[in-house]
Amino acid sequence: MNAAVRIDPETGLRLFNTRAAKASEKIAGKGYSVVTDQKLTELPKPPAGATFNAEEQAKYRAFKEVRRGAADYMAMEGDFRKYLDDVYSEPPIPREALDDECEILVVGAGFGGLLLWQKLNEAGFTDVRFCEKGGDVGGTWYWNRYPGIACDVESYSYLPLLDETGYIPSMKFASGFEILEHCQRMAQKFGFYDHCLFHTTVEATTWDEASGRWIVETDRGDKMRARFVILANGILTTPKLARIAGMEKFKGESFHTSRWNYDIDLSGKRVGIIGTGATAVQAIPELAKVVGELYVFQRTPSSIEVRAQRETTTEEREIWSKEPGWAAARRGRFARISEVRAAVLANDDYLSGKSPDFKERKIYDRKLTPEEFMQKQLDSSFRLMEQVRARVDAIVKNPKTAAALKPYYPYGCKRPTFHDEYLPTFNLPHVHLVDVAPRGVSEINERGVVHEGVEYPLDVLIYATGFQWMGTSSFNLIRGRSGRTLTEKWETEGTRTFLGLHTRGFPNLFIVTGPQGGGGSFNFTDVIYAHADYLIWMMQTMRERGAAVVDVRKEPEDKYAEHCRDADIATAPLRDCISYYNGEGKATPGSLAYYGGRAWDRFRMEAQSSLEPYVFEGDPN
Ligand SMILES: Cc1cc2nc3c(=O)[nH]c(=O)nc-3n(C[C@H](O)[C@H](O)[C@H](O)COP(=O)(O)OP(=O)(O)OC[C@H]3O[C@@H](n4cnc5c(N)ncnc54)[C@H](O)[C@@H]3O)c2cc1C
Repeated sequence: MNAAVRIDPETGLRLFNTRAAKASEKIAGKGYSVVTDQKLTELPKPPAGATFNAEEQAKYRAFKEVRRGAADYMAMEGDFRKYLDDVYSEPPIPREALDDECEILVVGAGFGGLLLWQKLNEAGFTDVRFCEKGGDVGGTWYWNRYPGIACDVESYSYLPLLDETGYIPSMKFASGFEILEHCQRMAQKFGFYDHCLFHTTVEATTWDEASGRWIVETDRGDKMRARFVILANGILTTPKLARIAGMEKFKGESFHTSRWNYDIDLSGKRVGIIGTGATAVQAIPELAKVVGELYVFQRTPSSIEVRAQRETTTEEREIWSKEPGWAAARRGRFARISEVRAAVLANDDYLSGKSPDFKERKIYDRKLTPEEFMQKQLDSSFRLMEQVRARVDAIVKNPKTAAALKPYYPYGCKRPTFHDEYLPTFNLPHVHLVDVAPRGVSEINERGVVHEGVEYPLDVLIYATGFQWMGTSSFNLIRGRSGRTLTEKWETEGTRTFLGLHTRGFPNLFIVTGPQGGGGSFNFTDVIYAHADYLIWMMQTMRERGAAVVDVRKEPEDKYAEHCRDADIATAPLRDCISYYNGEGKATPGSLAYYGGRAWDRFRMEAQSSLEPYVFEGDPN
């Protein structure tokens, strides 16, 4: 067996062999099934002439206001730290602590890390090292392996490097297990494993002005120096728990969906699941197939749109296998779709290039004012939500359960979800929706969940309580030029970045898909590509200029932060509910995701042609 750390005789670089083996063969599953019943795969017709009038607006407002302040999430600390354990891999491979230097250190081995490696390597940057908390590649798709997991952006546009690996996904919406295998395929093909330290968590990243290096410390005792640090450590990677009185008392088995415990046999058991967001919607139909009794504790219903899963056709396989660049072209077309709904419908004719647009454009005899345009968007969101609500009535037989499953907020305000088996699951006699609106579950005791005086005894309790949004889990661990952490900078000045990728005072640090990090697509992979391309350009520009350090100037950073705030405020009526997207109603406008669409490209292109936002310093040696 190879040593965990060895020296490449040709380059003198350290290479690694730290990938951990899979913990158990029980860790397996599938995503969305193909459903053929037309009643389940079509939305009811939209109601004629319905508009988002004052009465409906009041209903939405009331739905929102009763939930204000109800979300109380907590980190997994103390008694709850166990929920973060890596249950998917064998224990870490022993290795020596590293006290050395590399040119580029990347945190994270998800899509971001994998794509960066392929692109950096191709551009001639080989002294690149990755640190990854988990035992293997995949990131999101390493940690999330719950039954039913699948992507919701069509896989032909979502999976990176399909052209380069020659892989064609088996389904339009690939299962998380297939995506994880694709991550491993990318890692094998491009030699990623040699460059990654698995089971290695970065705990401190500190700028050393004298040497012009970042000092990166890890939980494995490493103290490495790097000229550049790239944070590709995810924006939905840190799981969170709802704070519920008595949760530490529960004597049964429990886990969070991002650490699914396949050693617990759920068959015939009384199982409770708290939360009905995107994860729960995918997991619940699969859980219902095995458990004895299923209790679903729901504070706020998700919008359940049709999924219309299908297999990749033989014709597609034939065409794509003879068409170099098919996936990049398709992803490019996907990126031009500017509406959430159209993006998730993923019109095959348009995406395959057979038809020129993703929808029929209405021609107006004059340009709409911004107010008129907003009203049109709100009306069409309302009509779509009426269809979503009508679908609940058409499928769910118990009227009380159906009423509780209907969402009242603009489409896409909470993470939209898709399923053709979720709603029918609530017609099964052993599946019980426990409506805990609007404040959520109030108590957990030794035996199970208690709500409004009723006890629900459980053998297993599953937390489907989601993730921190736009938190990489490390902003509070990075100290820049002033000695302040990134979190401290943003808490005092407000979130301030340039393009979401740089933040002043933190030279040579780049954040992939973080707060304010645009790219103009609903497809995260597209954003990761845009950010990776930008970073390659930046590294090459620095090489050409003989620069060692790049920072950004205050004025462009302020201007960009103001743009992010304005874009968020301008589009806020479309997201008028309490959701993780707006920090449960508490986020400062512009501090989380980017809502400027393609404007990000304009900022980027101007910066790349003028170089005016940047301060380049020093000699690289
Ligand atoms: C269940 C689920 C389904 C999703 N479905 C879609 C979808 O259909 N379409 C879409 O566009 N997006 C989807 N997303 C968003 C998804 O996160 C992104 O698409 C993408 O996979 C993110 O890749 P990434 O590499 O940026 O981050 P991640 O995949 O989150 O990878 C980051 C990695 O960094 C590691 N890490 C974090 N901190 C540290 C540290 N301090 N030290 C070392 N390592 C660290 C983590 O362990 C993780 O492995 C989904 C997210 C979830 C949770």
